[in-house]
Order: sequence, then C-alpha cells, then structure tokens
Amino acid sequence: MRCIDTTWLKVYNGTMNFPALQLLVSRENIQDAVKRLAGEITRDYRDKNPVILGVLNGSFIFVADLVRRLDFPLEIAWVKCSSYESGRHTTGQVKLAPGLDPDIRGRHVFVVEDIVDTGITLAFLKAGLEKKKPASLKLCTLADKPSRRVAPLALDYTGLTVPDKFVVGYGMDDGEKYRNLPDIYYLED
Ligand code: 5GP
Repeated sequence: MRCIDTTWLKVYNGTMNFPALQLLVSRENIQDAVKRLAGEITRDYRDKNPVILGVLNGSFIFVADLVRRLDFPLEIAWVKCSSYESGRHTTGQVKLAPGLDPDIRGRHVFVVEDIVDTGITLAFLKAGLEKKKPASLKLCTLADKPSRRVAPLALDYTGLTVPDKFVVGYGMDDGEKYRNLPDIYYLED
C-alpha cells in the first residue's frame, strides 16, 4: 500500500512551523469578506477612476486580492506609515515614510489599511491626505478592532471585526514575521 505524505499540507496551512499561533479567520472567510467589499466598491466607484491607496506594509496582500476583483479603471498607489516601531503596541507617534507621495489632488481616493486598532494611524493619514485636496476620501480596512479605539475615526468599509488580540498573517506581521501566512492568527501574549 502506498502512503501519502501530507507534511506539505501542514506546512501550507501555516501550522507546523508556528505552533504558538491560534487560527482566528480562515482564508475562506477572509476571501468572503474581500468579495463582499469588492462588490460594495464596484457599486460606489465603477465610474470614478479611483486611486486605491494601500498603506504599506501590512495591506499588500489585501490590496492585491481586492483589486483583482475590481474590473473597472483604477490606479494603485502606496503610502507607508508606522507607529509600532517593530513592537506590538503603538507608540502613538505616526511617521510617514519619505518617497511615497502620490499626486491625489482632485482624485477619488480609496485608502486601504490592513487593520485599525487605536485609529491613530489612519486618523493621522486622513488628515494629511485631506490637505492635498482629493475629490473624495474614503477609508477601508480589512480588520477592525473597535474595542481599542482612541482616535475618533469613521470607517467607510470594513471587512472583518476582530477581538482585542494581536493578529498576524495575510500581510500582518509580528516583527516582520508571519506576513506570508494565508490565514489570520492571533498570538498569545
Ligand atoms: P493603530 O494606529 O490603529 O493603532 O494601528 C494601525 C496599524 O498598527 C496597522 O496598520 C498595523 O500595522 C498595526 N497593527 C494594529 N493592530 C495590529 C495587530 O493586531 N496585528 C498587527 N500585525 N499589526 C497591528
């Protein structure tokens, strides 16, 4: 009788090498959320040639999945801000990385974030982008942790609501690890 080696399956599922991770949102549930958001964005932006503005680094997989479900004219640009300085708690001081300065004057701008926690990052970014006089500015996040909100922030599009846990995977990291995992996990403290 032939034995089938399933080791590769465990590696692909992201569990074998990362025993400390607890599955929070499966890839199927993530894709359901992405599909629903793509439907809402198509309804609202089909004729607007929007600038999809991804917030690096954590949104890179979400943006890639989302835009492949949008079949109307759009542009993709990036900004990079950080408030975590490689730790798990925000410093409260948001920095914009130099060099990424998309021209958004008069454009319909659709900001795509991986996760909103205190809201400080996106509130800071929104205020900065509004000074550049876009035609409109909307905020979208894959995951929202509303229980942790400090800055008042109205999100226009939300994929998933997650509990007050530090999550990784699907682009999100812990000290630059785990971004490649296809599901979302939480890390125990
Ligand atoms: P905020 O400014 O809303 O507190 O945090 C926003 C940014 O912090 C996100 O773009 C993300 O980079 C990071 N962040 C917040 N919560 C988490 C989390 O649970 N996991 C990871 N990996 N990053 C987080």
